Amino acid sequence: MKIKFFGAAKTVTGSKHLIELWDNRRIMLDCGMFQGMGKDTYPMNAHEPVEPSSIEAIVLSHAHIDHSGLLPKYVKDGFTGTIFATEATYALCEIMLRDSAFIQEADVRFSNKRKGREGKDAYEPLYTFSDVEQTLSQFEVIKENEKFHVVDGVKATFIPNGHILGSAAIFLEIDEINEHTNLLYTGDIGRTNTALIKNPEPTPQADVIICESTYGDRLHHNTTDAEQELLDAVLHTIKEKKGKLIIPAFSLGRTQEIVFSLNKLDLYGLLPSVKIYVDSPLAADATAITKQFAHLLNKEVQRFCNARPDPFGFGKLSYTKKKEDSQKINASNEPCIIISASGMADAGRVKHHIFHGIENERNTILFVGYAEPLSLGGKLQNGENPVTIFGESKKVKAEVKIISSMSAHADYEEMGNYLSIQNPNEVKAIYLVHGEEKAQLAFKNYLNGKGFKNILIPEFGESVVPPYGHLQEGEGSPLE
Ligand SMILES: [Zn+2]
Repeated sequence: MKIKFFGAAKTVTGSKHLIELWDNRRIMLDCGMFQGMGKDTYPMNAHEPVEPSSIEAIVLSHAHIDHSGLLPKYVKDGFTGTIFATEATYALCEIMLRDSAFIQEADVRFSNKRKGREGKDAYEPLYTFSDVEQTLSQFEVIKENEKFHVVDGVKATFIPNGHILGSAAIFLEIDEINEHTNLLYTGDIGRTNTALIKNPEPTPQADVIICESTYGDRLHHNTTDAEQELLDAVLHTIKEKKGKLIIPAFSLGRTQEIVFSLNKLDLYGLLPSVKIYVDSPLAADATAITKQFAHLLNKEVQRFCNARPDPFGFGKLSYTKKKEDSQKINASNEPCIIISASGMADAGRVKHHIFHGIENERNTILFVGYAEPLSLGGKLQNGENPVTIFGESKKVKAEVKIISSMSAHADYEEMGNYLSIQNPNEVKAIYLVHGEEKAQLAFKNYLNGKGFKNILIPEFGESVVPPYGHLQEGEGSPLE
């Protein structure tokens, strides 16, 4: 068996890990889109390092676009196999992928107008709405913790990993001509005791692990501190500064978590009188699906529902779907809280809110999740000033704050706990993905300290035969 890493190698987006069996049959774990990588983003997504028609099946860990976003492109270009996912992941992919096609088509129309004026070749959208519909027809829904047949010789189990609704680690049992391998792909590992999602579940013993490493060099605060930090930011911005609190947030996961936290603060009578907008049609849809799968959420949500029936709806809060309503929020000078996508502030309506609000010291831009260093969110988090938004240089006068403890990603101790169920002597290799190299090197050291050996950090396009690393086949070169 070989593993080929076609994304999330020394970076956090574009997750795609190809498993090539002894007889050259291929399955892929996730089919994610690269995001927030500046001008490299489009070519990295347009280039397919493996022929899609040569892949027999794709197993999907969760619905976030950096794990699912290129499924329609692979289908468009010849992938005809089954996409295995949990029921909630499928329901979320329906809205996430349709939204992604909509964004592709709109973005391409916008840039082609400019390119046309400059006499340059036009872009093509990565995929369209009809590719998404075909993709959705190739899904097969699988129950959590039930072993299923992927292809001959490969069985898999989804084990909930606490990251977002429907997310799971993938445990593969691979039988080859003279070898059996238990391979654990962690997906994105969630935190313990988060606002909404149940804790990650234990996994069986693995021989080989593909492990995420986003926060391999960081410890988060306690999850209960996050609510206090959120309240502090609200009171400081709304009551003291009388400004706008702009919160860039992934439509799926983070938005529902913040809304639930604000709902709790409101129930306890701690929130000032303020209008709260969730300004994202996708977030409104993702919230509706989260409600539909409320039985998958943790006990705290169930308890809360005894006091207030809707964890994601209360008097001060409204969901804005129409563009005109979003523009009205921009035009208003009233203090308010705006929760809007994208989380990296690179696209979506939040970019407009930041564009209009960044040069006013009364406002606060509050980040509650990870952002690629090259994205607008990453630059603001790193203190860059001025920043360029929509081609205009903007002075950063608004306060920029970060609450990292709201992250849906485990810190290094939590990831260590997640792996602590594994006997290190039986794990032959751990491949670290989904992290920047600095975090990966720190996490490698940490895991070494826990007794794990042979921890490898693959490059993009690298091909390995476990338990080894660095079986080079040329970086990113296409495989026929
Ligand atoms: Zn994720």
